[in-house]
Amino acid sequence: MDPIILTNIPFAADRAQLLAKLHVAEGSDFAADLNQLVDEAEALARPKAMYKMVFIEEKGDDYVLIDGVRLSSRVLRVNLDEAHRAFAQVATCGAELQAWAEGLTDMLYRFWAEEIKLAALRAAGLALDADLAARYNPGKTSRMNPGSLADWPLREQGPLFAILGDVQAAIGVYLTDSYLMVPNKSTSGLRFPREASFESCQLCPREGCPGRRARYDPALYESTYQNKS
Ligand code: SF4
Repeated sequence: MDPIILTNIPFAADRAQLLAKLHVAEGSDFAADLNQLVDEAEALARPKAMYKMVFIEEKGDDYVLIDGVRLSSRVLRVNLDEAHRAFAQVATCGAELQAWAEGLTDMLYRFWAEEIKLAALRAAGLALDADLAARYNPGKTSRMNPGSLADWPLREQGPLFAILGDVQAAIGVYLTDSYLMVPNKSTSGLRFPREASFESCQLCPREGCPGRRARYDPALYESTYQNKS
């Protein structure tokens, strides 16, 4: 199955939301500066995304085999218990916005630019979700990302990218030696059908995380994921 590549994703930042998030008062000089920066970013931005429907070829105790590539995670393996197919995916704010942000010299502008890049990444993620829903109608799904749990560490970006093919040629995202994505405002993961919703945050005890999407359940790993064989 060839990957689906989305390179023509429109981007118009929600300026009121940006002002609020960055604590910039509407009508102020700072707001004028921020609006000008957003104008520049919107003219340049090319958010992109790619995804690929894959079939699960083999399931071990703590790994799955997809397209001949092994993904090693007990949690992922259990979450894929009932799944026969899944969707490997990457979304990004785009290399154009990354280069633009790197060219800014003012520290405050650089800080604002990261938030603008995040908004472009959200646009890419929404476009990916909409395209996937329209093409494949996958029903209820959950997603896991390499690096979100010790059980599926960041180095698993390597095999995930291998499943997708040449991600850099397709949408300009590449991995550093330590498996971080460039542009930094990119997301990757494996989406899979699952009746009950799953978030890695349910298994993550990190306190005060601003990105938390679900409450930590200290009993969940032992009740559901621990290998009892
Ligand atoms: S709580 Fe925060 S660090 Fe932990 S999995 Fe969720 S988003 Fe990631």
